[in-house]
Amino acid sequence: MMSEYRPIADRIKDYRPVELRPAEAFLARELERCQDCGIPFCHAVGCPLHNVIPEINAEALRGRWESALYRLLETSPFPEFTARVCPGLCEGSCVQGLNGTPVPARLAEYEVTERGFERGWIRPLPPLRRLDLRVAVVGSGPAGLAAASRLNRAGATVTVYERDRRCGGFLRYGIPDFKLDKAVIDRRLDILEAEGVVFCRDVEAGVKIPGRLLEDHFDALVVATGARLKNDVRKPGRGLAGILFATDYLSAQNRANSGEISGLPGGYSAAGRKVLVIGGGDTGSDCVGTAVRQGAAEVTQVEIRPEPPASRAAGNPWPQWPKIMTTSTSHEEGCRRLWGVEPAEFTPGAADGSRVGGVVLHEVVWRTEGGAWLSSPRPASEFVIEADLVLLAVGFAGPEETPLRPEGLEGAPAGGRLGSRIYAAGDATRGPSLVVKAMSDGLACAERVLADFAHARLARKSA
Ligand SMILES: Cc1cc2nc3c(=O)[nH]c(=O)nc-3n(C[C@H](O)[C@H](O)[C@H](O)COP(=O)(O)OP(=O)(O)OC[C@H]3O[C@@H](n4cnc5c(N)ncnc54)[C@H](O)[C@@H]3O)c2cc1C
Repeated sequence: MMSEYRPIADRIKDYRPVELRPAEAFLARELERCQDCGIPFCHAVGCPLHNVIPEINAEALRGRWESALYRLLETSPFPEFTARVCPGLCEGSCVQGLNGTPVPARLAEYEVTERGFERGWIRPLPPLRRLDLRVAVVGSGPAGLAAASRLNRAGATVTVYERDRRCGGFLRYGIPDFKLDKAVIDRRLDILEAEGVVFCRDVEAGVKIPGRLLEDHFDALVVATGARLKNDVRKPGRGLAGILFATDYLSAQNRANSGEISGLPGGYSAAGRKVLVIGGGDTGSDCVGTAVRQGAAEVTQVEIRPEPPASRAAGNPWPQWPKIMTTSTSHEEGCRRLWGVEPAEFTPGAADGSRVGGVVLHEVVWRTEGGAWLSSPRPASEFVIEADLVLLAVGFAGPEETPLRPEGLEGAPAGGRLGSRIYAAGDATRGPSLVVKAMSDGLACAERVLADFAHARLARKSA
């Protein structure tokens, strides 16, 4: 692993970030390795923002950190977020990764960005003049914030509506503090506010403020409301207490950490409990780290897919994203992982029949049919895992229904126009994805709004 982390025994006592700032000598070596590249694929194939990684790293290697930062900011609105939580799609297509270890571009991004904040190079940049363009952005996740930032800097008057008490979307309420310190979001929100973006928190657009009013008052409406329709595990016993959606569980801990709620509600604590996390992805891993910090007695994470290979399979060549086994910092903190299994039933506990006490699981067999992967239970493979807290981390089905767009959002072009004066960006259109893609969509959406505005102005002038 390229990153350095706080020792496990120390970090599981708190929710502070686990990753350490990269050591200077290590980073210098890596920046140099980055320059040892013939044709870079990282920015074209890997990074959705198309960050010009070799150019950024070349500047950093020569000690020209300010110049490195400006190259980075040409394409990325908030590199401080991706520097902490991006899986590093660029690293999957790094030329050095062909025969060895990829250059840790995310860590270089971290260093370039933090130097930018420390030295005051990243500061509010309000537009020199305002356009006759008023835009409402609904949702303050990375997609909405990226759209708002780009539009505001271009001179639009931007109001962001957020139904939660604080802004940031899943950056704030999903991703745990030990991966992303929320002060990093607040620092960026302060800049956006100083640049003139107006935030209306605690306002559900389409409900508290009707969509029609927004359409009357604004020239364009950007819908960046995320993919918030949760997948469920509809099996017998699902109604028992102690079975929670992962995002509700993670959000409760984040809200307690920030003081938004006073302490963790009892049902949301894993202290002394046997925890079963259903879903082997990143959200599941975040649940593992959170349960360990809450003092869980034991944590198991199960996944329906088979265990990924240790190295790239033949059908997954470089420069594609490597579908290989990964172990997160949370997994290292103490968790058993099972692959190729699926829950069949939730069973009540012996002491309290209204609360979950265990989960019956079975192994699954995978086969392909007409190119599609299908699973079926392996006969006589049932087993039980004792669990008095079950966390469902099985993803999202798509965007919630919204009166802002009764015909639905999913399937619309990511970061594009949906109809007259209505645009959409981020998970709301592409389905559950990544911070970097949400940001990229937000920028694309802002460009679309600005281009339409310019065309409309030209048309008015020539009429
Ligand atoms: C637990 C968890 C961990 C994750 N970890 C990572 C990670 O490590 N790396 C990574 O790249 N990605 C990660 N992701 C995915 C990433 O967070 C999302 O892809 C990204 O946040 C999507 O951005 P978005 O702006 O489209 O939507 P969201 O972040 O979902 O934001 C949508 C916002 O819209 C608001 N909203 C919805 N409806 C309305 C309305 N009617 N009026 C006003 N506001 C409204 C919501 O309250 C929310 O604030 C994680 C996701 C989860 C759930």
